[in-house]
Amino acid sequence: MFETDYERILKLVDNVDPVAYGRNRNFIDGDVSRLSPYISRGVISTKQVMKRTLERGFNPDDIQKWLQELAWRDYWQLIWIEKGNEINYDLRREQPDAKNYKMPRAVVDASTGIEAIDDAIREFYKSGYIHNHVRMYIAAICCNMGGSHWKTPARWMYYHLKDGDWASNALSWQWVAGANSNKKYVANQDNINKYCHSNQKGTFLDIPYEAFDSMEVPEVLSGLIELEFKTPLPESGEISIDPDKPTLIYNYYNLDPIWKQGLDVNRILLLEPSVFDKYPVSKQNISFALELGKNIPGLQVFVGEFGELTQNHSLREADVYFKEHPLNSNYEGTEEPRNWMFSVKGCYPSFFKFWNNARKELKRPADLFSQV
Ligand SMILES: Cc1cc2nc3c(=O)[nH]c(=O)nc-3n(C[C@H](O)[C@H](O)[C@H](O)COP(=O)(O)OP(=O)(O)OC[C@H]3O[C@@H](n4cnc5c(N)ncnc54)[C@H](O)[C@@H]3O)c2cc1C
Repeated sequence: MFETDYERILKLVDNVDPVAYGRNRNFIDGDVSRLSPYISRGVISTKQVMKRTLERGFNPDDIQKWLQELAWRDYWQLIWIEKGNEINYDLRREQPDAKNYKMPRAVVDASTGIEAIDDAIREFYKSGYIHNHVRMYIAAICCNMGGSHWKTPARWMYYHLKDGDWASNALSWQWVAGANSNKKYVANQDNINKYCHSNQKGTFLDIPYEAFDSMEVPEVLSGLIELEFKTPLPESGEISIDPDKPTLIYNYYNLDPIWKQGLDVNRILLLEPSVFDKYPVSKQNISFALELGKNIPGLQVFVGEFGELTQNHSLREADVYFKEHPLNSNYEGTEEPRNWMFSVKGCYPSFFKFWNNARKELKRPADLFSQV
């Protein structure tokens, strides 16, 4: 359902209609790109996508929504870099009205009774993808109607998402739940009917917006479950490393086929059990990452910790290269920057403060793309 061949992925980038996107992206059948699995896995970067879109001749002002949404990814990522593990806890304020640390069973079972949501969850288990608006509805149902603290449901979604990116995930869940925003996000049945083209009535969400303030947990969301996640990592096979060549470390967040393309180096996909214990993902997602890794010639898979890799193969720090990422803080070697869209860095209090600074660079495309 999701391509894994690099050339075909680039075609998908070139097929995006960024103008239509601005008009209809909130509809379930809108012109969304479905590029996130490739961006999250580091196969393509937000900057590469921006560059290829602008090279097709669009005026940045006409495709602002598209560029902004791409920039959300970098914005959340910059917060992760700055705040580190703090994003695993309520970031701005305690989640209002959190009543439990479990998850509504009806969401896991796709039996909330909201047809558009249940259909999307069933489809999610097969495809590993959910439309952004539906992610917001699901998060609101879990946290703001069901009273669950955001973290368990966020881990459930991250586990199954092909585009799992812990910054976009945890911080979006917190945004919906009001832990990383000033108010909780709610949507009623009319809103869902409009954006999902359904026509349902009489559900627990078929209420006016004023009624959300005094809403009790609906019966259907009162059944709660605890969830345990495990990542089925592959067996670590034998790998061979030439000690006279540099070693490039790839991982679940960096599968970039054009990184140091053509150089005669060792290329290792490092799957660290400690990372997957903390941020578990499904078998389907590990298989997807391994398939994407096939775009990188000579890539060998090592399942183990960074320290084991360097010790077992006597790697010297000076010969090791990797790309910047918050989950790499234990790596030792040369860290190379991520391919950010803009030179604006740091943790901004709001996306729009970040965007207002960043967008100035769109007026200077020569500077913007000098690094790509
Ligand atoms: C509760 C919740 C959980 C989420 N979890 C994740 C996650 O684990 N991984 C993830 O990549 N995104 C996550 N998002 C953000 C967003 O839903 C997805 O990036 C988007 O739906 C991906 O689909 P697409 O590629 O078709 O997006 P498009 O709408 O086509 O957008 C193009 C690109 O812009 C970026 N983008 C768009 N919207 C957002 C956004 N709101 N936040 C960050 N980047 C965005 C993505 O890189 C996306 O590929 C989450 C959002 C919510 C509300």
